[in-house]
Amino acid sequence: MSIRIIPQDELEKSDRKTAEMIPPLLFPRLKNLYSRRAARLRQLAEKNPLGDYLRFTAVIASAQEIVLYDHPLQMDLHARLVETARQGKPPLDIHTLPRDGHWQRLLHSLIAELKPEMTGQALAVLENLEKASAQELEAMASALFDNDFARVSSDKAPFIWAALSVYWAQMAALIPGKARAEYGEQRQFCPVCASVPVTSIVHMGTQHGGLRYLHCNLCESEWYVVRSKCTNCEQTRDLHYWSLDSETAPVKAESCGDCGTYLKMLYQEKDPAVEPVADDLASLVLDARMEQEGFSRSSLNPFLFPGE
Ligand SMILES: [Zn+2]
Ligand SMILES: [Zn+2]
Repeated sequence: MSIRIIPQDELEKSDRKTAEMIPPLLFPRLKNLYSRRAARLRQLAEKNPLGDYLRFTAVIASAQEIVLYDHPLQMDLHARLVETARQGKPPLDIHTLPRDGHWQRLLHSLIAELKPEMTGQALAVLENLEKASAQELEAMASALFDNDFARVSSDKAPFIWAALSVYWAQMAALIPGKARAEYGEQRQFCPVCASVPVTSIVHMGTQHGGLRYLHCNLCESEWYVVRSKCTNCEQTRDLHYWSLDSETAPVKAESCGDCGTYLKMLYQEKDPAVEPVADDLASLVLDARMEQEGFSRSSLNPFLFPGE
């Protein structure tokens, strides 16, 4: 696995040297995460051809904030951290972590928050999800985690993912202080949960200024990948940068000729308000352009699933 997560007590025991200047991993800070995202989505909606969709997703992000505070999560992750560190696996691996009933409680609470806000097709989708059995919901969650998008309709997927994402973000937020991360190779997957990035962000400020982090589309953790290196295949020789308006645009796409993929980069320095999920969604015109150029996306936005 890319970045290894080691329980804190084992680090002290083995006297492992982890004096890294650059933090390899930033665990999610949930305070204000969803309200910032919702505000950014609403702001970007004003001058966007997809404005209605951005406002729709802002409503979901606001509901995630309420659900997060209504359903706090307590969980002892220590045994799991020890075990996954031994195996060199991400502690919250979407393919192996057993899910308990918490995420379905989050989903039903999310549906209850959203129903009064939605009309037409979206309301019908919510009512449909509300009636789904626990097994059906589990099957949809597994299908999304297996990239089997044909098995979940694209209008249901964002709601399922929104609940799973709050669950995973709550778990990821319980790790800091209990574990530390170390470097390795192959950083296209999240070192916490093994999902994929939504986009990457070049931070500003004294602590992480100028450093590029990939933002997880599920657990909201961020992991470091050096700039000028393809995040998908680690090649460096055929990278190009694309933007729609100008050289100084806060959103660019980094394309790699070696593996034929691209990932967006958001520059906080050019706009301190950039937010991974919102700015990615608001720049779909750039995705269309990249596809025209023959590149495919190496990332996935939580509000935009391929689906049927
Ligand atoms: Zn993750
Ligand atoms: Zn590549």
